[in-house]
Amino acid sequence: MTGRDVPGVIYLLHFQQPYRHARHYLGWTEDLAARLEQHQKGQGARLLTVVREAGISWSLSRTWQGDRNRERQIKRMGGLSRSCPDCGVKPRIRQPIDLGRAAVEGTEATAHGPRSKQLEPEAGG
Ligand SMILES: [Zn+2]
Repeated sequence: MTGRDVPGVIYLLHFQQPYRHARHYLGWTEDLAARLEQHQKGQGARLLTVVREAGISWSLSRTWQGDRNRERQIKRMGGLSRSCPDCGVKPRIRQPIDLGRAAVEGTEATAHGPRSKQLEPEAGG
């Protein structure tokens, strides 16, 4: 019984505008409704106090079930925007790189004449 394994809710707040380098606040609570009410008044977290003073609103983006250890894990992972639906989590588009490589290889193939892909399996991987 360390007090750290209390089940609760981990919540991610998404700021409508970034405050300096911060765009999110990740917190943990046993009572989410009460906690959000506090935050709306600019209470409970220093960051949310200054965000409120700056006139930036925020929304609850998502929650996880878990204890404070889990909260730490999520914080340590970094890149909260990648966990945030409000930031528009989308698969990365890799096309620009792939097209560039294809174009270069195509040019080489023309310069050296046609070559069989069977003889040269994809190098560099
Ligand atoms: Zn976000």
